[in-house]
Amino acid sequence: MRQLVGRLRSGLSHLFSLPEGYEVALGNGGASFFWDLASLCLIERRSQHLAFGEFSSKFAQIVEDAPHLAAPEVIEGTPGTCPQPHLAEDVDAYCLTHNETSTGVQCEIVRIGSPDQLVLVDGTSAAGGLQLDAAAFDAYYFSPQKCFAADGGIWVALLSPAAIERSARLGSTSRWIPSSLDLNLALQNSRQDQTYNTPAVATLFLFVQQLEWILEQGGLDWAAARCRRSASIVYDWADRAPYASPFVQDPGQRSQVVATIDLSPEVSAGEVSKILRRNGIVDIDGYRKLGRNQLRLGLFPAVEPEDAARLTRAIDWVAHRVGGANHV
Ligand SMILES: *Cc1c(COP(=O)(O)O)cnc(C)c1O
Repeated sequence: MRQLVGRLRSGLSHLFSLPEGYEVALGNGGASFFWDLASLCLIERRSQHLAFGEFSSKFAQIVEDAPHLAAPEVIEGTPGTCPQPHLAEDVDAYCLTHNETSTGVQCEIVRIGSPDQLVLVDGTSAAGGLQLDAAAFDAYYFSPQKCFAADGGIWVALLSPAAIERSARLGSTSRWIPSSLDLNLALQNSRQDQTYNTPAVATLFLFVQQLEWILEQGGLDWAAARCRRSASIVYDWADRAPYASPFVQDPGQRSQVVATIDLSPEVSAGEVSKILRRNGIVDIDGYRKLGRNQLRLGLFPAVEPEDAARLTRAIDWVAHRVGGANHV
């Protein structure tokens, strides 16, 4: 176990070229759990959130509900776009999302604010597939079931010295922090290549395999280029196909790890997905709450770009029969 955690921590430091003083912490619970933890250990009084889809909105809601914090500043963006943060003197944390998985929007992560304001980034579906400058964040957290092709249930956080200092300080104030939600305790354990309580070893094993494979292939540059290739195959196809179009209008915000593709009304995305599912092609449904006639395609590093191309051909084949040759 300790060997796995050690390989995970050093592998992630390499993959993200973490600057001096940054540390890798991990614990049980996944990214959603980390939102609760961040509301206790990283946000001091008030945070600013960009809310532009299911995941980014959930974190804002958690903070909204936290009785020990001031009401957050929430900057909302229409689904399919990425709103911009703005400088605000009365916030101590900016909460950003690298890739909004529900809508297929990716945002560039650039540092905002002064050194005493933390930048907290949900990197759950982006980490390992999108380029990232570690100097831009104070905490970049994620779970391993997306780009790292493992199971869920654990969270990882890449922490800057400022984030570590903040969590140590809040831990020593009168704020009550339950042990399983205590980032300091998690970090102390991580430093010894342990976790606070027993993790799922199989998940760690899968995570480390995928991480070391990516490093052997050439690291984050390689993984991001591979995702870009898959994404360009899918978006080029959607631009060409008469019945399909990329949901995200700004090409620069189209996610390279999760592509959302709208279909025209005569081709039911639900029907296409159902038929493909019967034939072993699974999990291409849009995000239900978005309520669109949409497919959502995972383009994580584990996906061969050639498989992304084959998927578009399979969708074409089914769409022709579902929609009728007149339309497609
Ligand atoms: C999947 C996902 C989450 C939730 O991850 P869990 O491990 O299920 O808690 C949070 N944020 C983003 C951006 C995600 O893609």
